[in-house]
Amino acid sequence: MLPTIRTAFAKLNYLTGLMVCLMFGSGCSNAQTPTTMKEKAYYNPADTNQLKVSNEEWKKVLDPKVYDIARNKGTEYAFSGQYWNHYETGVYHCAACGNPLFKSDGKFESSCGWPSFFEPIREGSVKYADDHSHGMNRIEVMCGRCDAHLGHIFDDGPPPTYKRYCINSVILQFEKK
Ligand code: FE
Repeated sequence: MLPTIRTAFAKLNYLTGLMVCLMFGSGCSNAQTPTTMKEKAYYNPADTNQLKVSNEEWKKVLDPKVYDIARNKGTEYAFSGQYWNHYETGVYHCAACGNPLFKSDGKFESSCGWPSFFEPIREGSVKYADDHSHGMNRIEVMCGRCDAHLGHIFDDGPPPTYKRYCINSVILQFEKK
């Protein structure tokens, strides 16, 4: 009798766990662990050397939201990201490759709805390209290591640089100091 009850409880626990996984997707620890490991396949915050990875390979390892910003030059909705109003002390890394991009010291409150910085963490941490898409003339900002699209740079920032690096939260990974 007792083993039968135990088996019934075990089945109930399994079904409850399965329902939670199905309802909350990434909240399921069993599903999250390999996904996180996979997404970090090219993530190395200690390595700033150039990284050449094909879009096909990035698509296999990155979260679809990160892939859309990084490789399809997508843009997250204003005020939707996790870092536009985030002011802890630390370093913002490229979420795809781990390259250190910006310091919290270089961040300012721009109220534009995206994380805004007046300078990158070091020379070469980001690179630039002319962007004439969507009928606008802008300068694109990319990761200096893996070429991931980060956002754009504008001339309406605060001193000392008067620049505003307007960056998508999705492609940033914050490391608290
Ligand atoms: Fe990168």
